[in-house]
Amino acid sequence: FAPWTDPTAQPLIQFKNVTKQFGDFTAVDDLTINIYEREFFALLGPSGCGKTTLMRMLAGFENPTHGEILLGGKNIVPVPPNQRPVNMMFQSYALFPHLSVWENIAFGLKRSDMPKDQIGDRVAEMLRLTRMEKFAKRKPHQISGGQRQRVALARSLAKAPKLLLLDEPLGALDKKLRNDTQFELMDIQEKTGTTFVIVTHDQEEAMTVASRVAVMDAGKMIQVDTPAGIYEAPNSVYVADFIGDVNIIEGNASVSGEKVDVHFAEGVDPIHAVTDKPITDGQRVSYAVRPEKISVDREPLADRANHVKGKVEDIGYLGNVSTYHVRLPSGQLVSALMTNSRRLARRDFTWEDEVWLSWTDTAGVVLTE
Ligand code: ATP
Repeated sequence: FAPWTDPTAQPLIQFKNVTKQFGDFTAVDDLTINIYEREFFALLGPSGCGKTTLMRMLAGFENPTHGEILLGGKNIVPVPPNQRPVNMMFQSYALFPHLSVWENIAFGLKRSDMPKDQIGDRVAEMLRLTRMEKFAKRKPHQISGGQRQRVALARSLAKAPKLLLLDEPLGALDKKLRNDTQFELMDIQEKTGTTFVIVTHDQEEAMTVASRVAVMDAGKMIQVDTPAGIYEAPNSVYVADFIGDVNIIEGNASVSGEKVDVHFAEGVDPIHAVTDKPITDGQRVSYAVRPEKISVDREPLADRANHVKGKVEDIGYLGNVSTYHVRLPSGQLVSALMTNSRRLARRDFTWEDEVWLSWTDTAGVVLTE
């Protein structure tokens, strides 16, 4: 399922050159993007980059200063929030404490013109979807945090919105519960077919749940791609650095066809890389490579294009993996991540050990911005 690759697919949401200014401050800057039906779309970016403003414009709590927002092909800017097929679930959940789970879910339906018997059916369906049937009579204070989150989700989906906006939906849950709930969220999104747009500070969460991730900075979309696309092929140092751990090494490029050498220090071999970007000879570039792409060994690995010698400065044992910080003679500190499988158990390096780092020419990316 990848409608963004299909030129005939109709987007559910279209932002067309949307700008939002608060006074002379530009919170969202000339933004154009399509979000498709049944997508799980994540907005990522540092605090203040405009994620919430974008969501609030979708919900109708803010209007753009310039540009259009279309839903199903129609401009929704003049449509008030309560008449949009859009709902928003807040981090606080905002459940009514004096109402039961059942009543909380039914609340919005009762205020609509849905007939009474249908309300019962719809609430039952939502309780089933979120596995809360057994708790229908309880009050919010009589259920757990994870269950409250599910009730909030059931309530947000009860009126079958076309678009559900989720603002840090799992922010109140602890790590373990949060991980389990991510999969539930994906499951529920799939079952209902509703388009979800999520804002989260947790990049792992965004990568886990989303079909596509948008990385924002200062009101602009820097890159929009699948989680793997964002992680494996970041378009800038900003994105490479924002998502996951990465080594960034600067140098001058020498180019021969699709092969690029990155000369990062005097008197040592350059880094060998391949690229499809237009890079010119002598251009200043940044080379980005993820720690898990680099192998740490006593000897250079013959089947890899890149070999650099260094000294172990730090080892972080994380159980399944260990992180090695290796200082190169040219001064750079490189981090490498190795799985602690049984095969590698004999690889017990210690501080100050001389090691070889090896990686392939396709492991990293050459970036020009
Ligand atoms: P966070 O992750 O901290 O929630 P965000 O990416 O959601 O941040 P926004 O809340 O969209 O950021 O805010 C973007 C920028 O717009 C911020 O610099 C903020 O101060 C500014 N801003 C937001 N709302 C208003 C407002 N009503 N008046 C003036 N400035 C605002």
